[in-house]
Amino acid sequence: MAVNARQSAPPPTFLGAGDKTRKKVGSLCSSCSPSFGSEDQAPEFVRGKLLSELSTWGIGGAARLFVEVRNREQLVSSIRHCREHNLKFLALGKGSNCLFDDRGFDGCVILSRINDMHENGCGRYRVGSGYPFNLLGIHTSKQGFGGLEFASGIPGTVGGAVFMNAGADGQETIEVLEAVEFVDTNGQTRELLKKQGELACSYRKSPFQGMPDLGAILFATFQLQPCPLSRDRQRDYLARRKQTQPVNERSAGCVFRNPGKGCQSAGALIEAVGLKGLRIGGAKVSELHANFLINTGGAKASDVLSLISVIKDRVRAESGIQLEQEVRYIPY
Ligand SMILES: Cc1cc2nc3c(=O)[nH]c(=O)nc-3n(C[C@H](O)[C@H](O)[C@H](O)COP(=O)(O)OP(=O)(O)OC[C@H]3O[C@@H](n4cnc5c(N)ncnc54)[C@H](O)[C@@H]3O)c2cc1C
Repeated sequence: MAVNARQSAPPPTFLGAGDKTRKKVGSLCSSCSPSFGSEDQAPEFVRGKLLSELSTWGIGGAARLFVEVRNREQLVSSIRHCREHNLKFLALGKGSNCLFDDRGFDGCVILSRINDMHENGCGRYRVGSGYPFNLLGIHTSKQGFGGLEFASGIPGTVGGAVFMNAGADGQETIEVLEAVEFVDTNGQTRELLKKQGELACSYRKSPFQGMPDLGAILFATFQLQPCPLSRDRQRDYLARRKQTQPVNERSAGCVFRNPGKGCQSAGALIEAVGLKGLRIGGAKVSELHANFLINTGGAKASDVLSLISVIKDRVRAESGIQLEQEVRYIPY
């Protein structure tokens, strides 16, 4: 693992949620010097951003603070700011695997828009954590490189996919991941390398999920292999997904992890106990795929949590299997 010197960081700017101007309205960060960067590079903190706007479920109250970061310096600056002000923070991608609390988040949500991509023409891609994972899957397969065909159906970011070790269609992010660069809570940049055994992942698990000093993922490097069938395969995966999943409804994908070898899938277990179509408030078990819980309009996090609880109880009572959540509930 490489540890780099601390980055210099520009001072943060604070805006109200409805303020569309770039006017600096205040700064709480006395330790950041204006000489670190230009005003344009300073991350803009917004108070009271609605998290329902940042999650594919469309659920969640307001964040105390919210900031979008577009480069390494802004990310480091934002994390340092949170640390200096003893503010908890959450790194976020597309919010396609998060259930935000109805009260919101009493800390700072840091949204990665680090969208750079560098490719060497031989299947090696170094991609910013904010880059859309589905676009990466389409781009790489169009170029004739295989390994990320599954990604074209996943509406998250590269950072979220690495954090979750996203997978589908018999493929997983880890299989083609070579290195991950991240910022720790002290604002230092570090790198984990697969060849050093530092990226041990399993089904929807990555080392980042249990890392106490993780700040946020910055870049991921993927090594893909030439594959003449990759574009056809990617199209097939996407077409099948559109037939079997409620892709046009508001959801967070599969809510529960599949229980494992020898067991039915979580969706099949939920269907078998007759819960397809069950509704609590605005939340409903999808009729198309029982592992998807849909926001039919105006669903609250409490509706989804109640539905999750009913499903777990019923599946455990009738099959003896304890379902575990794949989606991440983000408490206030
Ligand atoms: C219709 C639909 C289909 C889906 N299909 C699949 C599927 O087939 N397979 C699958 O695995 N998933 C699937 N998902 C779930 C989801 O898209 C993936 O888990 C995705 O990888 C999450 O990415 P994200 O950017 O949205 O992460 P978010 O939801 O924003 O975040 C998820 C977690 O990752 C962390 N995180 C995000 N970005 C960073 C970062 N830069 N640094 C550190 N931590 C970060 C967050 O803190 C959070 O804990 C689906 C979701 C939907 C809505």
